[in-house]
Amino acid sequence: MRKFLVAGNWKMNGDTARNRELVAGIIAGSKPSETVEVLVCPPFPYLAAVAEQAGDSHVMVGSQNVSEHESGAYTGETAPAMLRDVGCTYAIVGHSERRTLYGETDDQVAAKYRAALDAGLTPILCIGETLEEREAMQTESVCSRQLSAVVAATGIEAFASAVIAYEPVWAIGTGLTATPEQAQDVHLHIRSMLSAENAEVAAGVQILYGGSMKGENAPGLLTMPDIDGGLIGGASLKSADFLAIVEAAVEVAGS
Ligand code: PEP
Repeated sequence: MRKFLVAGNWKMNGDTARNRELVAGIIAGSKPSETVEVLVCPPFPYLAAVAEQAGDSHVMVGSQNVSEHESGAYTGETAPAMLRDVGCTYAIVGHSERRTLYGETDDQVAAKYRAALDAGLTPILCIGETLEEREAMQTESVCSRQLSAVVAATGIEAFASAVIAYEPVWAIGTGLTATPEQAQDVHLHIRSMLSAENAEVAAGVQILYGGSMKGENAPGLLTMPDIDGGLIGGASLKSADFLAIVEAAVEVAGS
């Protein structure tokens, strides 16, 4: 039985005071749960402080990116082991903003995925199509290409303890959301692709939806059989908004 994972991607937002308030609100407003996991991904400078504040509460901490290298002359980069060292247990890799704004390639994303896993982090692999690609009916082929690059580099077993986030680029930060059916179709495609390699691994992988998820649309999305949670940007910056999604997941899990 897969658990839901509700993950907040804070992107480049927040400061020490606002983060403290946000984390305190999330801890106070949600409970440890057998069925719903809660994760926050703050900007790098705040990871250690947020991890310390989260302590041994049910709120987990992850990074928004990670280097594919272990250590050395990589100015400005952060090694996976450093993230573990400051209390992270997850790392987002291949977010569409990294791919588009910083030119991350499928191969680089695959290397980051491998490096995160090797350091004991759970990678959250983001994949998804642009509006142009959706209109050209390339949604499945784009997702297949992005996923295959990682499977080819790491092997299917590397997905036994990983998370995939399907994030249609046209829905990120735009207020547009994939309908539950549109999202489910792609999630099923992703799971079927993995299943062709290893059915057991595919059945266990959490596949999150990302793209303007909010309290109002979360119940419809989370009721879909292959949607196992959300990667949330805008709505993760206010505890009430984020908690509304956590609550939706708790309700769907209990129904
Ligand atoms: C994201 O950036 O991962 C995301 C899903 O953002 P938003 O929820 O704001 O669309």
